[in-house]
Amino acid sequence: KREDVDVEKLEQAVVDIDPKNDKYTNFTDLPLSDPTKQGLKSAHFAVMTDVQATAIPLALKGHDILGAAKTGSGKTLAFLIPVLENLYRLQHIGTDAGLGALIISPTRELAIQIFDVLCKIGRHGHMFAAGLVIGGKSLESERQALTKMNILVGTPGRLLQHLSQTVAFNVDDLKMLVLDEADRILDMGFQKDVDAIVEYLPKERQTLLFSATQSKKVSDLARLSLQEPEYVSVHAED
Ligand code: ADP
Ligand code: MG
Repeated sequence: KREDVDVEKLEQAVVDIDPKNDKYTNFTDLPLSDPTKQGLKSAHFAVMTDVQATAIPLALKGHDILGAAKTGSGKTLAFLIPVLENLYRLQHIGTDAGLGALIISPTRELAIQIFDVLCKIGRHGHMFAAGLVIGGKSLESERQALTKMNILVGTPGRLLQHLSQTVAFNVDDLKMLVLDEADRILDMGFQKDVDAIVEYLPKERQTLLFSATQSKKVSDLARLSLQEPEYVSVHAED
């Protein structure tokens, strides 16, 4: 199959990434799938921000990431591109594949923003199913959709509610966890919920944690949820 050949080539190109020595400036410098390249192009994303140029090559290679970069520095694409690409290369897509990635966001508004960016860059030929779990609809209607999704974006309380109450919600094959705006998640008092969510997830997974600020609480969460993370810290203005 042509797709198998493409995935194999991509996989080799990702293996060949040397994050310490390679210099990546544009998204087109990276080994990305055609659908993702198309999505980025049609959304007019060309030059990477610093946090993207540093974090994406590492995350494509499967490393856990602890990323700190101020608001507006482009952290959303820094995790969404690796999520899309790593699931694509694993062919973890389609209604039978189950949940491959879980993205946790502190607020409904931020979760919706992430979901919108995911749809924008994912709509050119990617076959994944993605959903929002933020409450506001009945548990039952969320429940129906939940079990077919490959990527979920949600808030901690609602996700935990489904993990504990929705029997058909299977996370056993999860490959990636993203904790976005981790500092805000903790400031809003979701520490216990996030700890409980992580308990449900497979230990063998990739975790990307992004935060606008570094703090004791964030590093405590990182210690619990990440394995030998690469630190990506960007302070300079873009
Ligand atoms: P953060 O999560 O770090 O606060 P966002 O991911 O929300 O930042 O991005 C901030 C803004 O920058 C958004 O409007 C986004 O569309 C834009 N942006 C992100 N990456 C790029 C890029 N590589 N080129 C141009 N604009 C970008
Ligand atoms: Mg953000």
